[in-house]
Amino acid sequence: ATTDPTLKVEGLASHYGPVQAIVDISLEVYPGELVTIVGANGAGKTTLLHTLSGVQRASTGSVMFEGEDITNRPAHRITAGGICHSPEGRQVFAPLSIEDNLQLGAFARKDDKTVIEAEIENIYSLFPVLKEKRLQAAGNLSGGQQQMLAIGRAMMGKPRLLLLDEPSMGLSPLLVGEIFDVIQDLNNQGVTILLVEQNARAALKIADRGYVLESGRVAFSASAEALLNDESVQKAYLGH
Ligand code: ATP
Repeated sequence: ATTDPTLKVEGLASHYGPVQAIVDISLEVYPGELVTIVGANGAGKTTLLHTLSGVQRASTGSVMFEGEDITNRPAHRITAGGICHSPEGRQVFAPLSIEDNLQLGAFARKDDKTVIEAEIENIYSLFPVLKEKRLQAAGNLSGGQQQMLAIGRAMMGKPRLLLLDEPSMGLSPLLVGEIFDVIQDLNNQGVTILLVEQNARAALKIADRGYVLESGRVAFSASAEALLNDESVQKAYLGH
């Protein structure tokens, strides 16, 4: 028997006014997979994630989540339905404490306090530094720590699909390694992940499969291993 995809995107396009940011994207993410999207600046990676999470309108095409058509549903309904998004540039609530930022990530859940507190503890075990600083304002965290908080906050929605936009952006090489380790841990815990990254090599190393975007289209897709070993991918995206 074949498994149904968690996410199935078909012929998706999206515009900013006259600018066509994504032109024709089809992809699937299967339960438990870690799939990465790589591509140059401006290829449409961020727009794709925004279109999946309802922040940006699809002009054509469809987004199916667990067999249901969620194309152009309002963002809050998509979140409540099980897709959580950790946006590019972190965007934590700077004046609020770390713990309050995590609580906000659970806003769409109807679970009681103890369930939510258990989830906060799970996030603290993934990111011990957040526990140490839990009562401090998020704005005082380093860039890497804010990134961890943004991922933790997205996890508070108990997503059945986690969208991560450039989690390694602006981090030191040491922290980049840490962030990718945690993403891999989350995936090993069973979280299905769609990861957008400029850091293509590191992303492909932890991914099952990858899609290469060029000018708003899927140029090719393959297993992460095949992409890592492909000469044209190496030349264009892996820096040798
Ligand atoms: P980056 O890594 O730089 O974020 P990306 O692959 O995520 O790149 P997008 O940000 O999705 O690419 O941009 C895709 C295209 O849409 C680009 O041509 C970009 O200039 C254009 N674009 C993005 N945001 C806007 C906007 N708010 N208004 C107009 N055009 C936009």
